Amino acid sequence: MNNDEHDHKHCLEMFDRLSEYLDNELDEVTCKDIEKHVKECVPCFVCLQTLKRTVDLCKQTESRPVPKDFSKKLKKIIQNMPKTPPAG
Ligand SMILES: [Zn+2]
Repeated sequence: MNNDEHDHKHCLEMFDRLSEYLDNELDEVTCKDIEKHVKECVPCFVCLQTLKRTVDLCKQTESRPVPKDFSKKLKKIIQNMPKTPPAG
């Protein structure tokens, strides 16, 4: 595992697509990209699990879209994360 080049910018881009990912609205390549990322990025993995649970709950009760506030919160978490120190 090599996290030296991990860029949280990628996390933010990914978050924009997580709800689509969970709804299976993305193409295979993008899905694979997300899956690969969460395997290497613990914060994203946790967020994805949380989002997934939320979506599942929503689906169980009523079919309603994921609250916008939720993805905003996720973005805030990522933005407040310390930057990955450069290698070396
Ligand atoms: Zn990430």
